[in-house]
Amino acid sequence: MNEQAQIPRATAKRLPIYYRYLTFLEDAGTSRISSAELAEATKFDAATIRRDFSYFGALGKRGYGYDVKALLAFFAKVLDQNSLINVALIGVGNLGQALLNFNFHQSSNMRIAAAFDINEKQGRILSGVPIYDMSELEEQIKAQRINIAILTVPQEAAQDITDRLVEAGVKGIMNFTPLRVSVPDGVRVQNVDLTNELQTLVYFIQNYASITTGK
Ligand code: ATP
Repeated sequence: MNEQAQIPRATAKRLPIYYRYLTFLEDAGTSRISSAELAEATKFDAATIRRDFSYFGALGKRGYGYDVKALLAFFAKVLDQNSLINVALIGVGNLGQALLNFNFHQSSNMRIAAAFDINEKQGRILSGVPIYDMSELEEQIKAQRINIAILTVPQEAAQDITDRLVEAGVKGIMNFTPLRVSVPDGVRVQNVDLTNELQTLVYFIQNYASITTGK
């Protein structure tokens, strides 16, 4: 979508968070919101929010704030929230099963539609998601028009599977393995390293405890 191409990546990353919070406001019957209130709820600062929203056109009015419905309609278009996005999960180990169980319930439009593994779990249905054998990967991905995949396999298998996914038409990979997989231009990889995230937090707590706690 052209609109998305013009939005900076950092702004685009915040979009789903705005979207989720605004959905919550709409459900609660709130019709407008100020950037200060949004800042408090999302923990982004108000200036960032105003700048982000300026990319979406003149949606805010001084002294009035933002119209929740108008923002939601706009974000839905940008995020393509109106269509259901089917995601594949590769590797139904501990982490894979946790994600199957989680299945992104807070989002109304994304779901893991198919999972794949090489072991005895194939043929079963876990958390409502069918587990296929790896030999069916390409066929299922094409049939279900899946273009996003989550990788929760051992890292030794990550690159081979990535190559197969790309070949089958996948355009986005959420990579939970520690391996930095190679992909051609036009394919995006989002690396999620939980150990690294926790380690970063531990480091900050140990080194900057007095700053973060404000003591
Ligand atoms: P984790 O918590 O990381 O999921 P685990 O100990 O449960 O770890 P791993 O050995 O990391 O399991 O494997 C994750 C899953 O990936 C397992 O279910 C395994 O059968 C599957 N797997 C391993 N190799 C492949 C492969 N080449 N293709 C598809 N699935 C694979």
